[in-house]
Amino acid sequence: MLVLKFGGTSVGRPERMRKIADLLFETSGKKVVVLSALSGTTNTLVRIGDHLLAKGTDAAEREIVTLEKHYEAFATDLFSSQAYRAIGQEIVGRYFSLFRLLAAGRFDERSYRELLAQGELISTELFYHHLQERKIASKLLPALHFMSIDENQEPELEKISERLRPLIQTLGNVDILVTQGYICRNHRNEIDNLRRGGSDYTASLIGAAIKAAEIQIWTDIDGMHNNDPRIVKKTFPIAELTFDEASELAYFGAKILHPSTIVPAQKMGVPVRLKNTMDEKAAGTLISNKGSRGQVKAIAAKDGITAVRVKSSRMLLAYGFLRKVFEVFEKYKTSIDMVSTSEVAVSVTIDDLQALSNIEEELRALGTIEVDKDQTIICIVGNMIAEKPDALKLVFDSLSSVPIRMVCFGGSHNNISILLDTRHKDKALNLLNEGLFTIPR
Ligand code: ASP
Ligand code: MG
Repeated sequence: MLVLKFGGTSVGRPERMRKIADLLFETSGKKVVVLSALSGTTNTLVRIGDHLLAKGTDAAEREIVTLEKHYEAFATDLFSSQAYRAIGQEIVGRYFSLFRLLAAGRFDERSYRELLAQGELISTELFYHHLQERKIASKLLPALHFMSIDENQEPELEKISERLRPLIQTLGNVDILVTQGYICRNHRNEIDNLRRGGSDYTASLIGAAIKAAEIQIWTDIDGMHNNDPRIVKKTFPIAELTFDEASELAYFGAKILHPSTIVPAQKMGVPVRLKNTMDEKAAGTLISNKGSRGQVKAIAAKDGITAVRVKSSRMLLAYGFLRKVFEVFEKYKTSIDMVSTSEVAVSVTIDDLQALSNIEEELRALGTIEVDKDQTIICIVGNMIAEKPDALKLVFDSLSSVPIRMVCFGGSHNNISILLDTRHKDKALNLLNEGLFTIPR
């Protein structure tokens, strides 16, 4: 069985949705199809929810009216026969009545989450009826019947698997099962979600739960690129990555994949393939246990980083100093990304600044503190230690004209992280692209 996930832009226009139907029709075998909400919908639902929490009913109604027009036009265009156009209008009407019902009631956090879930429910319902109209056999597989998170917001993979397998068995006489990304139930059995961008995560959880042959994430670029295409001109798609490499890239800023996505797939050893809806024949990127080795694979950058340096002569020859430093961050639930030490100082980076002033104050008891904001981590991924010993030299040669604030190497086998002022990011990414890759023509 395959799991195929299509994101917001891939279903965001009627012609794109029809194209997905073509693609599914041409792909043989059984598959679970995970859809996001139409592009922009979740953002709009967030705005509507925010207005309603703040008692801005009029502002919410204005947003609802605009969104409703968008969906009416979408449904009219999507279907071709009178009969199905009527079904389309009925579906749209039903969802927008629900929005107004929610808006008129006592709107709380729980109603908010229920509202957010409607984007995926409506996109899958429209898509399912589109398949019906074209006589492509399929069934709806309701995510709220199997996808769940525990009290710590963590997906319950085992329970999901126990519910999903029999569900697929009962529905299983068709090749296409259509389900909602992003949405789930929480430990109180209320409607909840896997957080923004969570449809990728849904696909991976389903793939892991049923031990699928492959999880395919369909977007509108041809796989994960070796560098940020918005900043660097000559980038190219990476054919193969290991799960570890892909996790680092997703975490450090490669926007194509939700960072948690890799976890369930890796746990169950299910390969993840990134594919392009605009160019189905393109190979895309395959993420698996095997993944090819032996080069620098890619570069990603993460902004909004703050570096904190604690300097103290008491650190010299003392033990337990690092523990005291780390305890302060732990106390304020602030996670650390990079760490670099010398005999008299330690530098760490954080991206959550909520507790920074408290942290600074407590650290002052340990030494002098310096804080640098607006930093960027550039993460260079690939098997560098064993397979490409000159990678470090190439990295530093490339960056000889850029001031570097911190370097981490050796923490894992496949990562060099460099911290620099965000002002130098674009230049650094371009220099590294030229220095580290042979750019295919
Ligand atoms: N619709 C949700 C969002 O926009 C989930 C997703 O698209 O992955 O965050
Ligand atoms: Mg996404």
